[in-house]
Amino acid sequence: MNFLSIIEKKRDGGELSAETISEAVAGFADGGIPDYQMAAFLMAVCCRGMLADETRALTLAMRDSGDVLDFPVDERPLVDKHSTGGVGDKVSIVLAPLLACLGFRVPMISGRGLGITGGTLDKLESIPGFTTQLSPARLVEQVQSIGVAMGGQTAEMAPADKALYALRDVTGTVPSIPLITASILSKKLAEGIGALVMDIKFGRAAFMPDIETARKLARSITGLASECGVKTTALLTRMDTPLGRAAGNWLEVKEAVDCLDCCSPDDLRAVTLACAGELLVLTGQTADTSSGRLRAMEELDSGRPRAKLDELVAAQGGDVAGFGGLLQRDHTAPVVRELAAGGAGFITRCEARLVGEIVRDLGGGRLMKDSVIDSSVGIDQLAKPGDAVERRGTMARVHARTEAEAKVALARLEAAFEIGEEPPEMSAFIESV
Ligand code: URA
Repeated sequence: MNFLSIIEKKRDGGELSAETISEAVAGFADGGIPDYQMAAFLMAVCCRGMLADETRALTLAMRDSGDVLDFPVDERPLVDKHSTGGVGDKVSIVLAPLLACLGFRVPMISGRGLGITGGTLDKLESIPGFTTQLSPARLVEQVQSIGVAMGGQTAEMAPADKALYALRDVTGTVPSIPLITASILSKKLAEGIGALVMDIKFGRAAFMPDIETARKLARSITGLASECGVKTTALLTRMDTPLGRAAGNWLEVKEAVDCLDCCSPDDLRAVTLACAGELLVLTGQTADTSSGRLRAMEELDSGRPRAKLDELVAAQGGDVAGFGGLLQRDHTAPVVRELAAGGAGFITRCEARLVGEIVRDLGGGRLMKDSVIDSSVGIDQLAKPGDAVERRGTMARVHARTEAEAKVALARLEAAFEIGEEPPEMSAFIESV
């Protein structure tokens, strides 16, 4: 295969055949195509786009770069949720155990942090001993026995996405509807699920900046997934402000546990319940999303999903006692400093993009493919739009490795907030497609 001519064809807006796309994916997965050429190809796709047939071919080639899970027949529906990525988005860590308690089987394959957005795998790996590298056989066995597994792409599961995802993260080639569609659905189709709910983020810190582009992405994903036999719906959720009040790997796990312990935060709880409600409807268990949400709320408040999370941690090699011990601690980073409000009033803006960049630069995300993540760093106790603050009251806390890094982060973080005299008008947080 002459990959250079394929790059040139896409650069000039040409259409690629399914066969060419499948050869390119296989060539990259087996090391025959170098990173620099694949990066150029990804940029050409970002700029020129792909037709629906090309996106389907890319998705299926990426799925077929590894195994497709094969589950025994069972009355418990196989379901999953995926998000297009946001700052502070820890929904999966609350939702996966909740879904298992609602009687679903959840073989969740997640991604790592991408751009300024965090990744579920990086978050889970901040739990002592927790492994996200599960073989297909182990994943199936765990889902059959406890209802849930949370793993990552491996050499066996969508390996082409694993390699492409890492390359896109550091080459500015994330925000592309065909690339996001193929990345997400290659993993989801490899899970062998029957129903999927998508959380498509839109806003200043999302890959899709406006709601119309988010709708297009939602249609691309739901349309292709349904064609491939997976019943799929999508929620559009606003990502101008971080989700919850914490961003950073361990701090987000801690906040997810708070949510499982019924100590909100409200936006995190709302997205979790909305996703569960959609899946209950998609699988015919409730007639509409409001009764689905109610059923999910009762289950969440029962405490069973919190216990299920510990079961999941133990099943994936985590140290449950060590996890519990860490949860008792206020922080795990060496330095914690507060950002104080310069005046009294109401928070009118808390900029998720800047918060995401600061967390990444503190060491919580990647600038290079092989950057090592520090799970202890991040930002918590974030004041959010509508909150009243006193002069010198806490607007956020920075968790850093050193005094110097905390100082730089605090100086930058100030610009993320705006304080006004009146509470701001709040736009709808969850929109329908
Ligand atoms: N999540 C994914 O799995 N892939 C993307 O490309 C974006 C978000």
